[in-house]
Amino acid sequence: MIEDGRTELAARHATRGVAVGRVRIGGDAPIVVQSMTNTDTADVKTTAQQVAELARAGSELVRVTVNTPEAAAAVPRIRERLDMMGVEVPLIGDFHYNGHQLLTAEPACAEALAKYRINPGNVGFGRKKDTQFAAIIEIALRHDKPVRIGANWGSLDQSLLAQLMDENHARARPWDAAAVGREALIRSALDSAARAEELGLSRDRILLSCKVSGVRELIAVYRDLAARSDYALHLGLTEAGMGSKGIVASAAALAVLLQEGIGDTIRISLTPAPGESRTREVIVAQELLQTMGLRAFTPLVTACPGCGRTTSSFFQELAQRVQEHVRARMPEWRLQYDGVENLTLAVMGCVVNGPGESRHADIGISLPGTGEAPVAPVFVDGRKTVTLRGERIADEFVEILENYVADRYAARGG
Ligand code: SF4
Repeated sequence: MIEDGRTELAARHATRGVAVGRVRIGGDAPIVVQSMTNTDTADVKTTAQQVAELARAGSELVRVTVNTPEAAAAVPRIRERLDMMGVEVPLIGDFHYNGHQLLTAEPACAEALAKYRINPGNVGFGRKKDTQFAAIIEIALRHDKPVRIGANWGSLDQSLLAQLMDENHARARPWDAAAVGREALIRSALDSAARAEELGLSRDRILLSCKVSGVRELIAVYRDLAARSDYALHLGLTEAGMGSKGIVASAAALAVLLQEGIGDTIRISLTPAPGESRTREVIVAQELLQTMGLRAFTPLVTACPGCGRTTSSFFQELAQRVQEHVRARMPEWRLQYDGVENLTLAVMGCVVNGPGESRHADIGISLPGTGEAPVAPVFVDGRKTVTLRGERIADEFVEILENYVADRYAARGG
């Protein structure tokens, strides 16, 4: 519903809260950001470093693949190393094919993980499927761990799909193949969750996900899943891709669902460019939640796109410098200043929209456009306070920002 120009967010789809270590997912908890490493888990040092990097960027849960005996043996050592580094982020183990063997052989791994993610499409095949699934659930019960049952389009349970195809042929009006595929994905997750409950895992220890790589398919699948269950839901577009394509596709799909109140935890599955930091997926997830008004993590800079009235690249450089400065200072600010994540900033390129947009922000600067006097008025809390000029505009603006943060946000515990 549209009211006074703003879209009202739907109430959150009611789901059960699940405790994953010290992090709560679902219920009335805020939507949780998570990410996944791409290191070899058997390499303790490198994996712990990347987990710490993701956690410091704001990932509230970090998943690691557990695919070999070496990786399973490394997990408790990674946990210990993180604890020594003061990084408390819960670790999630991602299991495929051999999870039952690895968790049985390495009880310390089973204990060090805060949650297990299993894929009902490859937990086992044929007659072994049920026993291997049951073995993992029994280990989860023994160690008191929650489980995410994560179905994926790319590893769909083929026997279930064949069964649903047969049932579909018998319908008076058969569904199209895509609808049968979606149903197979959802049924795979729901049937597995029901089986886990039969084995003794309570509903508040179960999360579900049903990931596909198409935007409209993902929206359709999760709408259906949310209508048919009250399990906590993990959202993500699988294999979203690289760069802007991955970001746009993930945001397009997740924004629709989040707007409808669907989703308790999210991951943005970006393929990093060679040499690019893995933390991009965390920043994108945070920015998605923040721009939708669902959570605040870091002050965001409003900047105009620039146009023919922009005199030089200085405007872009200042916007980038301010955003990077804020992001770099946040770990410290967060500890010192309550509510600083809600600070709003504007860096604008000329007089057309500059003063107006800057007045709407807590702190804004309107740089001179083509033909304007070489001065940059600064607005604080909607009022023009100073006009900057010369070589030190960027440095002086950052000083104003630092002073504003220190003055406005009360010191914690002070
Ligand atoms: S504020 Fe000025 S420089 Fe920026 S896009 Fe608008 S007209 Fe162009």
